[in-house]
Amino acid sequence: MNKVITEKKTLSNFINGQWVKSSTENYIEVPNPATGEILAEVPISTQQDLEKAVEAAKQAFTSWKRVAVPQRARILFKYQQLLIENWDELAKIITVENGKNYTEAYGEVQRGIECVEFAAGAPTLMMGHQLPDIATSIESGMYRYPLGIVGGITPFNFPMMVPCWMFPLAIASGNTFILKPSERTPLLANYLAELLHEAGLPAGVFNLVHGAHDIVNGILSHPDIPAVSFVGSQPVAEYVYKTGTSNGKRVQALAGAKNHTIVLPDADMDLTVTNIINAAFGSAGERCMACAVVVAVGDIADELVTRLVEESNKLTIGDGLKEGIFLGPVIRDSHKDRTIQYIESGIEEGATLLRDGRNDQPSDGGYFVGPTIFDHVTQEMKIWKEEIFAPVLSIVRVDTLDDAISFANKSDFANGACIFTDSAKAIRQFREEIDAGMLGVNLGVPAPMAFFPFSGYKKSFYGDLHANGRDGIEFYTRKKMLTARHEF
Ligand code: NAD
Repeated sequence: MNKVITEKKTLSNFINGQWVKSSTENYIEVPNPATGEILAEVPISTQQDLEKAVEAAKQAFTSWKRVAVPQRARILFKYQQLLIENWDELAKIITVENGKNYTEAYGEVQRGIECVEFAAGAPTLMMGHQLPDIATSIESGMYRYPLGIVGGITPFNFPMMVPCWMFPLAIASGNTFILKPSERTPLLANYLAELLHEAGLPAGVFNLVHGAHDIVNGILSHPDIPAVSFVGSQPVAEYVYKTGTSNGKRVQALAGAKNHTIVLPDADMDLTVTNIINAAFGSAGERCMACAVVVAVGDIADELVTRLVEESNKLTIGDGLKEGIFLGPVIRDSHKDRTIQYIESGIEEGATLLRDGRNDQPSDGGYFVGPTIFDHVTQEMKIWKEEIFAPVLSIVRVDTLDDAISFANKSDFANGACIFTDSAKAIRQFREEIDAGMLGVNLGVPAPMAFFPFSGYKKSFYGDLHANGRDGIEFYTRKKMLTARHEF
């Protein structure tokens, strides 16, 4: 087993149970975003590499779909055990390649393990249902079957959790799988593949092809891949959904977000501030469930804003592997530049910059942006309309809960929304009227656990069946209805 990255590596693809060098000449470097040090080079794989993976997955499907479901689940139990044994190492790789601090990375591993645990319930999840007497001597039943090869395309911000939304459930239900991880955080995927192999997964059931757009396009147009799970930014999600479905595939595409947090005058101030700071600046704001906008209702605004600025001034910034660091880097220099452009646009469009993170550079290397807070943000501003995906928080002031809900509902995105209040009436109104798929009450990041669907909508999701939960099993299976006559 590779120990935490100490020297630069050239990554290979994992095809048919083996590490296979890509046929490409084209490699890109993968830096540690906290230091700029080059960790690895990742192949921008070719169509030829993808074909090899498809061939392996196709062959493996013929036998894997017939493996008894409890036996498939048993491999996942073993895999869960291996992930637990390797927890620390997995978390360190996440921190080193993504930048989030070790505690957050450790939590991400937990969320990944929970997906494996859910998928290991496949014997129950795969059950169909029957009615013995739909007519005299005639019975009818629904049976669930896998689809074939599933393609998974994942983003940089959760190198463990997001792939784990996909492949454990897909393979538990009898499919074979090809993962195309983010080329910006490709290291952890190799570790996941290695542990799957160690858990006894037959060759070809899980394949890993590194690369970028070309592999995505190859997956989207491949006639032997009937289903695609995608997680990433909104424009790419829309493209993947439209292209995949127009090629006759089943596609779920989870996209960007702009999550609003409403704070009512009766909110517990300490609880609210702690949760908003974590939700806005944790993982450097690079979470699809991050708090991007606070909507302060009534006269709580002044105190709330003062407290948020005070607390954000206390945050420690630096390399997330070091103890006590809260805020790590953003993923790349280019993402830092893009974030700075958003901050400049906020200033130009008239928002009040209360805390400026542009010069929070704790060391020479690395791509850091400190916590940044804008007050008096309006719906005309680019910093409100678009997903920044960085530690930049917008504050909006309104008079009533009605105004707050109506403000949040104007967003194009609908992943998450939170409310801080003690009022049961307000919570009920929020639940009924807010236009977002994952809601939080008196907490900051309401990401559902693996046995519930990850249920964004509007421009945060393209498709019908969400990732995880019962939706996940529906997505990765198709049904046969059997109607039979038995005379006796
Ligand atoms: P991204 O869209 O840049 O990349 C995602 C994947 O798509 C990568 O594997 C990448 O190689 C591929 N890709 C990128 N551009 C492409 C193109 N033009 N054609 C084909 N393939 C392409 O996303 P990212 O920056 O890696 O991840 C961050 C985004 O993901 C944010 O917008 C975040 O909100 C979103 N996200 C959403 C969820 C959710 O559940 N809704 C979860 C995590 C992340």
